[in-house]
Amino acid sequence: MSDRILFWHRRDLRLADNLGLTAACQRTRQVTGVFCLDPAILNREDLAPARLVFLLDSLRELQAGYARLGSDLLILHQSPVTGLPALAKALKVRSVFWNQDVEPYGRRRDEQVAAGLKEQGIAVQQIWDQLLHPPGTILTGSGSPYTVYGPFWKNWRAQPKQDPVPAPPALQGHTETEETLGTIALPDPQTFQVIWTNPLEIPVGEAAARQQLDQFCQGTTIGQYDEDRNYPARPGTSRLSAALKFGTLGIRTVWRQAEQVLVRCRSDEERNGVEVWQKELAWREFYQHVLYFFPALADGPYRPVWKGFPWRENRDQFAAWCAGMTGYPIVDAAMRQLNQTGWMHNRCRMIVASFLTKDLILNWQWGEKYFMQQLCDGDLAANNGGWQWSASSGMDPKPLRIFNPASQAQKFDPEADYIRQWIPELKSVDSERLVKGNLPKAVRDRVGYPDPIVNHQQQQQTFKRLYQQQKNAI
Ligand code: FAD
Repeated sequence: MSDRILFWHRRDLRLADNLGLTAACQRTRQVTGVFCLDPAILNREDLAPARLVFLLDSLRELQAGYARLGSDLLILHQSPVTGLPALAKALKVRSVFWNQDVEPYGRRRDEQVAAGLKEQGIAVQQIWDQLLHPPGTILTGSGSPYTVYGPFWKNWRAQPKQDPVPAPPALQGHTETEETLGTIALPDPQTFQVIWTNPLEIPVGEAAARQQLDQFCQGTTIGQYDEDRNYPARPGTSRLSAALKFGTLGIRTVWRQAEQVLVRCRSDEERNGVEVWQKELAWREFYQHVLYFFPALADGPYRPVWKGFPWRENRDQFAAWCAGMTGYPIVDAAMRQLNQTGWMHNRCRMIVASFLTKDLILNWQWGEKYFMQQLCDGDLAANNGGWQWSASSGMDPKPLRIFNPASQAQKFDPEADYIRQWIPELKSVDSERLVKGNLPKAVRDRVGYPDPIVNHQQQQQTFKRLYQQQKNAI
């Protein structure tokens, strides 16, 4: 056995502010990185092309980073349960380090990998890195996990937060070859039958994520966040969700920058903007905590009233929603943004989720899965949390949320800039008609835009009636 440590990257595709990697490097300079392209994840039917491209491009940059430090990031294309113990043995490492995760699949897998390594006498070190406060550290007075965001935020905000750690200094690489280790060169997306040619409109890799964070915090955007974050046509949000999902950016780095902005804010408005953004970072942690403590959330609704709800089964309407062809411009613009870029603005995620569940009366889990099939930031905890929030089936105590697409568009896309950007056939249509959604049939026919597939007012009534019946029945 050598002194070498194998560091297993998963949702931490970076060198700086990586607590697990730093812990490994404090023991020895002989650190080799590894990432497993796990067939169980790559073969899932909800793998999004944009997400895979983001992952592979970020890995490419991380590999170059390891090379600069004098070591290597190895790539395994097999199950980590069998692949990692075999690799650890071939490299003769003393221990394997990784940062912990909250997802049910990841936790089961990690237990199996740890057992396989320990059987071979290889030590395992697991560290929390992806959250400012790991599960179990933010609890109610009686020691239970929070199920409501408000008090979670208060407690979470009040806790001292760790500072970021720097990237490791020079490392010592291994001498074994890919052939002897059973590792592969980093593949292209085509290897997995994935073709994605659109540019990702988000920062990919560690350097770009850092730059994006600097821009967001050093300019005026963060100070105006409370107002601008609601308008999908404005560049009012950070677009760091994929960076945070894959950990190309460390959360301590993000938090410290936001705190530094708070110190130099010159107005209450700016301060409020920063604090509202910090609250979003806490939503991310809240959803990860609840998934950790209530893993059944991943499989269905949290609230009993939604179990057995008589959702419709209309596949044609679902297909129209997916394609951005519902005849409701704000909904269609959002779905087309998602399909073309792999990202959608948060206000629009809420609008389309409400439309799917309350207007089409289709199961939110269909929407949840479709989002995962498209989103570059697709993340079980945040996506499931967002869908359960929108469907009113999750932790949040507010019973029903029904968004009126026309009022949403009038309020948050008043000039129809967003609608026009994503629905080119409506470019020449009058703004007022676009936001109210009352396009004459002749106009729709002329430009080739569909009639509304449902009537919002009627569907709302139907939905409320079904909900009341369901409530009475339990
Ligand atoms: P910013 O507004 O700049 O926020 C900063 C960061 O805070 C985000 O990058 C993200 O990490 C976190 N964050 C912000 N809002 C939320 C939220 N409501 N819940 C959890 N974290 C949040 N976010 C994902 O990262 N992955 C998903 O798969 C996902 N699916 C969603 C599905 C639905 C139905 C809804 C309503 C929301 C979903 N969100 C998801 C949350 C949110 O829409 C995105 O995080 C946000 O739009 C990303 O843009 P941004 O990076 O510019 O966010």
